[in-house]
Amino acid sequence: MRIAFIGLGHMGGHMAANLAAGGHEVTGFDPVAELREAAAAKGVSVAESAVAAVEGAEVVVTSLPNGHVLLSVYDEVLPAATAGTLFIDTSTTGAELAWQAAEKVDAAGHRFIDAPVSGGVVGAEAGTLTFMVGGSDEDVAAAQPVLEPMAGKVVHCGKSGNGQAAKLCNNLLLAITQVGVAEAFVLGEQLGLTHQAFYDVASTSAAQCWALKTNCPVPGPVPASPANRDYEGGFATSLMHKDLTLAMAEVDRAGMDAQVGKLVADLYARLSETEHAGHDFSSIITTLRDDA
Ligand code: NAD
Repeated sequence: MRIAFIGLGHMGGHMAANLAAGGHEVTGFDPVAELREAAAAKGVSVAESAVAAVEGAEVVVTSLPNGHVLLSVYDEVLPAATAGTLFIDTSTTGAELAWQAAEKVDAAGHRFIDAPVSGGVVGAEAGTLTFMVGGSDEDVAAAQPVLEPMAGKVVHCGKSGNGQAAKLCNNLLLAITQVGVAEAFVLGEQLGLTHQAFYDVASTSAAQCWALKTNCPVPGPVPASPANRDYEGGFATSLMHKDLTLAMAEVDRAGMDAQVGKLVADLYARLSETEHAGHDFSSIITTLRDDA
């Protein structure tokens, strides 16, 4: 298929390359020249503008910083798209902005699905992302051959916006479990437990979870976790802060209390103001230690 790919950043650069490797004809655009060059080196044709990328495309995939940038890019490119083009947005935007995007695309005579992802830069490069998709059965089926080279799993979560809803609920749970694991390690430190002893118990008990067994927030027990390299790499605190801010906006709109989520969102807001903003979000243990 002829695919336009807009936003060739940490995620989008790899995703566009996987689409090209999967046999699609991909034309990419990003305002950053080095990112266009990097994509070109991986088999992606590059355009000098988003509009030029979209002209003649059957599908337009976006990977942009947030929903506001998405809406402004859509304002720019929708008039240039062929009638009935399928727009697939993989950015994390929150449900509200996904609904607005869906309305805009629909009003312009095109089709839209929200398809945010989980799996990070590693999953984007390996083509093993989990896609959480919102949209009609027909549009989601049409998107399958495009999602396939980028995906390990595609979950159709329901109507438009439901992919974003699933993404926010997932990351809220992830943040809560990461803080929970970090708090348990800090209490263990206070009580004189070694990290390894606590890990050996918790990782084989009912408390086990991804935040412990893969993203362990202390160095040692899980050699590949970001804690072993001063929290470099992984999923950035600033991105988790962004996702929790979106989740808390939905919590407020739903009139929910979400006490635990609010505490965790506040912790990440604080951490995102520190030198850990660019570090993996398991670095939240440093805040909990300071508070202890
Ligand atoms: P990024 O900042 O590296 O990439 C976004 C790209 O969009 C940048 O290269 C930027 O130049 C480009 N861009 C900005 N304005 C533009 C415009 N007007 N037109 C065209 N391109 C424009 O961010 P990322 O880490 O690749 O994340 C992309 C999206 O995926 C975000 O919504 C993020 O929340 C989500 N996400 C990221 C991760 C991750 O681990 N990085 C994981 C899951 C989801």
